[in-house]
Amino acid sequence: MTLACEKAGREAGSVRLLLATKTVAPDRIRTAIEAGETLIGENRIQEFAAKNPELSGLKYERHFIGHLQTNKIKDMLKYDVKCIQSLDSMELMHSLDRRLQSEGRSIDVMVQVNTSFEASKFGLNPGDVFSFLKELKKYDTLKLKGFMTIGLFDSDTEAVRRSYTRLREIRDRAISEGIVPPESSELSMGMSSDLETAIEEGATIVRIGTAIFGTRTSNR
Ligand SMILES: *Cc1c(COP(=O)(O)O)cnc(C)c1O
Repeated sequence: MTLACEKAGREAGSVRLLLATKTVAPDRIRTAIEAGETLIGENRIQEFAAKNPELSGLKYERHFIGHLQTNKIKDMLKYDVKCIQSLDSMELMHSLDRRLQSEGRSIDVMVQVNTSFEASKFGLNPGDVFSFLKELKKYDTLKLKGFMTIGLFDSDTEAVRRSYTRLREIRDRAISEGIVPPESSELSMGMSSDLETAIEEGATIVRIGTAIFGTRTSNR
């Protein structure tokens, strides 16, 4: 990652590494945290629940990066999740707010954008993001940190790059038009196969699984 930053002319400290630990056994996650990693992302509540006992006592930040169903919100809030990177619908926004209000707390969020326009992917259509952000502003319980996308999965680097450029441009416009404050500037984008491209396009968080833990046996 340091090398990718160097090549992109960016400081190594300007990009955080999030370990995408879906299907990874807790002892391996523990080893990574003890080696100095600080940011862990899971896609499913069940995995937070299952791994939690073995990771207790360790200090690290948890992000939720999967699709969150509204009926799982209450459960998720038990696991000390700092940021939900996958806020992708009005319905989820409203349900989260209601639950957080009843618990008297707030949570960090990122807005997930479907930058590749693939029907199979979650995330807002780029054209809907600004109206979504205006609605989001009304909720004190949801602290917007930035934007997240799962880029196009393709061997054509330039096609992949367009996903990431799109997310950066959305953020830049949202900030320059005053729709979000300058602090809401995180760009969570880039996975094992395309982290260099994502870093060139301005990623502040890359989410890496296989390049660190090896190929997953199941792909959930
Ligand atoms: C699995 C996953 C990643 C990491 O993917 P790799 O290709 O294993 O690096 C990143 N983001 C999300 C949302 C994921 O589900």
